[in-house]
Amino acid sequence: MSYFDNNATTPLHPSAREALLNASTENWANPSSPYRISAKVRASMQKCRESIASGLQTDPDQLIFTSGSTEANNSVFSHLSQNGDKSSRILLSPFEHPSVSEAAHYWFSGRVDFLNAQPDGTINTGELEAYLNKGPLPLLVSIMAASNESGVIQPWREAARLCQKFGVPYHCDSTQLPGKERLDDLSLCTYSVYSAHKFGGPKGIGWLVGEGASSLLVGGEQEKGRRGGTENYPAIKSAHRAWESMVQAPLDISGLSRLRDDFEDQMEQQIPGIRIIGKNSPRLWNTSLMIMPEFENLQWVGKLDKLGFQVSTGSACSSTRTGGSPIAQALALSLPETQRLIRISSFQDHTHSEWKGLRDAFAKAHLSLQKESLGSSVISL
Ligand code: PMP
Repeated sequence: MSYFDNNATTPLHPSAREALLNASTENWANPSSPYRISAKVRASMQKCRESIASGLQTDPDQLIFTSGSTEANNSVFSHLSQNGDKSSRILLSPFEHPSVSEAAHYWFSGRVDFLNAQPDGTINTGELEAYLNKGPLPLLVSIMAASNESGVIQPWREAARLCQKFGVPYHCDSTQLPGKERLDDLSLCTYSVYSAHKFGGPKGIGWLVGEGASSLLVGGEQEKGRRGGTENYPAIKSAHRAWESMVQAPLDISGLSRLRDDFEDQMEQQIPGIRIIGKNSPRLWNTSLMIMPEFENLQWVGKLDKLGFQVSTGSACSSTRTGGSPIAQALALSLPETQRLIRISSFQDHTHSEWKGLRDAFAKAHLSLQKESLGSSVISL
C-alpha cells in the first residue's frame, strides 16, 4: 500500500502510538481531580502545553486544547459573534475550509465578505490592503496558511502584518502547515489552529492559539473556562510526541519538493493535457492538485486503489459533497473539470520509488480506463 492522501490524515507516528498507549494505561486519572495521580497528569499536560507554545513562540496561557481545527475555527467565530460589534463584517479568503467558511456564515449571517481568487490559487494582499484602507474595518480577517486541496501557500505573513498595522484581528487556519513548512511568524496571527492527525498524531485532538476565544461547550470549567469537557490527556501527550517527532525535526524541504516536482513533470509528459492547480505558486512540497484531461476522478481513484495507491478526489470533506470543493468554486471550475480533480498528498517519508510507483500506477490506470471506454463506446454504438 502506498498512501498519498496525507492532507486528509496521516498515519499515527510510532512514538505517538507509544505515548498514547502509555498515557492511557498509566495516566488515565481525570486531570481536574484533587489527588496526586491527577496532579501528575495535570503537570504533564501543562508541560505539553508549554513545550508546544514555546515552539510557536507564544504564551502557553493562549493555547487551549480542542478536538481539532474544526472546533478551534468554530470557536473563533462564535466568540467574536458573541463579543464583537453586532454590525461589523468579517473578511475571508475564497479558499477556506468549510470549518471556516461555513462557521463564518453561521455566526455572521449576511456579514461575510470575500477576497477575490486569483487564477494561480492565491489571494492578492493589495486587495486586502485596499479593503482595510477603505473601511469600515472588519471585525476579523481570515486567510488560511495553505490550502488542504491545492497546497498553495497564501501570503499569510504579509496579511498578518497588514492586519496588525490596521489593528484588525487576524485568524489563520494553519492546519496544513505543521510537519510541512516553517512555523515561525505564526505568532503574528491573532488566532491559529492545529489538528494533530495532520502530522502523525491521533485524531480528535488539536489546539487553538489566541486570546479570549470562548468555549462552544457550556457546562465545564476546563481550559480556564474556555473549553468545557474532561481533557483528553492521552491524546494530548500523543499529539505532543508527534509534534516533537514530525514538526520540530529538521526537514529537507527542497529535496522533498524535487520528488513532487519530478512526479508532476513526468505526469505531464505521460498524460498530456493534465493541468496542475497553482503549479507556479508557492506550494506545500507534498501536494499536487491535478485536473485530469479525461475520465472522472472516482474512476481514477478506484483503479489506483486496486493497484495499491490511495489518492483523493479533492479534500476528504468535499469528496462526499455534490457542491464541489472550495477551490473548484473559488476558481470557477466547470462541473466536468471539478469531477476530474485528483489530489496527491505525500508526507515526510515518501521515497523516490513510491513516487515512481504512483506514476507507473497512473499509466496502468490510464490504459485500463482507455480500454474500458473503447469497449463501452463499441457497445453503445
Ligand atoms: N482546516 C483545514 C485547512 C483542514 O485541512 C482541515 C482538515 N481537513 C480542517 C481545517 C479540519 O480539521 P479537523 O477535521 O481535524 O477538525
